[in-house]
Amino acid sequence: MTTVLTCLNYIDGRWLSATEGSTLESRNPALVTEVVATFPRSSVHDVDLAVATARQAYHSWRKVPAPTRAEYIFRVGELLLQHKEELAQLMSREMGKPLTEARGDVQEGIDCAFYSAGEGRRLFGQTTPSEMPNKFAMTVRTPVGVCALITPWNFPVAIPCWKAMPALVCGNTVILKPAEDTPACATKLIEIFAAAGLPPGVINLVHGVGEEVGKALVEHPDVDLVSFTGSSETGAFVGATCGRTHKRVCLEMGGKNAQVVMEDADLELALDGAVWGAFGTTGQRCTATSRLILHRDIKEKFTAMLYKRTSKLRLGAGIEADTDIGPLINEAQLQRVSSYLDIARAEGAKVLIGGKIASEGSLKNGYFFQPTILDGVTPQMRVAREEIFGPVVALIEVSSFAEAIAILNNTNYGLSSSVYTRDINRAFTAMRDIEAGITYINGPTIGAEVHLPFGGVKNTGNGHREAGTTALDVFTEWKSVYVDFSGSLQRAQIDNRS
Ligand code: ADP
Repeated sequence: MTTVLTCLNYIDGRWLSATEGSTLESRNPALVTEVVATFPRSSVHDVDLAVATARQAYHSWRKVPAPTRAEYIFRVGELLLQHKEELAQLMSREMGKPLTEARGDVQEGIDCAFYSAGEGRRLFGQTTPSEMPNKFAMTVRTPVGVCALITPWNFPVAIPCWKAMPALVCGNTVILKPAEDTPACATKLIEIFAAAGLPPGVINLVHGVGEEVGKALVEHPDVDLVSFTGSSETGAFVGATCGRTHKRVCLEMGGKNAQVVMEDADLELALDGAVWGAFGTTGQRCTATSRLILHRDIKEKFTAMLYKRTSKLRLGAGIEADTDIGPLINEAQLQRVSSYLDIARAEGAKVLIGGKIASEGSLKNGYFFQPTILDGVTPQMRVAREEIFGPVVALIEVSSFAEAIAILNNTNYGLSSSVYTRDINRAFTAMRDIEAGITYINGPTIGAEVHLPFGGVKNTGNGHREAGTTALDVFTEWKSVYVDFSGSLQRAQIDNRS
């Protein structure tokens, strides 16, 4: 018997139930009868309280020297390291991903902590000459204010860290609204932030339903910035609402990422990349490979290799050592992936392997879907254009490199992309011509590192990037400062021109 965790909100440095008292549950997606945690179904009253607290804390937190703010985040990194295994085990149970991947998720949070902490001693602006004599000019970064961080379940530690860590180092205060499916991971993470000694109100946690508390945060007049990762549908609502209310907003949404395999590629290497990219995290990454664009000269051979490797993948609970592919997150996601198989069949795609809900033995107790290869997919089919977010990869045959790039770009999304080739000219052409925020050469579409910008073009985002120094651009405003030490009025564009 595993114990059921009781998650609470964290507001003003205190662990609180929702004001209206009702609770919800998260369950183990590999064993749906197992309740992992209960968490508060918060209401607008809890949101109001968290926002007021974050506003109050902001007045003093923004004045704490940035290197000191960063030291708290460094401590969070050290604590995450100490608790890495415990968090990874919990994540495997609550979210379903294999333990090795769950450890990677926590590691991303650790990397982000140490990287963001370093920024506390940088946060560089510029100094630049003034056009006037005896006048000094510079730019400084200033915090934005109260930030609402709305996060999904697929990276339940890494994504909140990506958002909260740079936000806090920059001098903002934050309210995390985690996904309904992974409240325990969020709670453990916030316990670690609390243990690092952050002052009350600087980081807050409000659990609950997206359409209730997420919406209330997005609409709240005293929230200055929303950083959102999730579906395109919700992102459209978040973006429109923030547009209407003049909030800063950073949106990270879907992808329809492709890996190109040219006829000159190292096929074994491309196979490793394709299997990891398509089926890692059960295809539930926004950077997952959902299209394989294969040159016709290697298509048959590569497809046979892929079939053989896929047939050996073992479905199972994330916490079991020999599991390659964990469950999908919930019933809705299982039905969604299933429905895309109906669409694929109706559109004339051929299911080479998989294609069904997995129900052998103990798999029937969870939300398992067989790893699936769709052959004969054409660029117009819905399965070639829409995000599926499951272990399903579509094979598309091409006759040339130019055609491969054109098909890769033929999507409304633009997050990640990959090309396997040994031809340097093709590699550089791909880097120039692919419409995506991330391009890998001879690597799979998944595998972002925290010190590089993360995000996409077209409908994937709204022009911002997470991670890297670009995260600072989300969580700060630029201020231009002019210091006139001439002792007299100097009128720009007038007094220094005849
Ligand atoms: P997914 O399909 O990945 O679950 P969602 O966009 O539904 O994506 O969820 C991502 C996050 O957005 C979750 O934390 C969810 O609770 C939240 N959310 C869902 N609907 C809304 C909404 N209307 N306003 C704000 N946040 C929302």
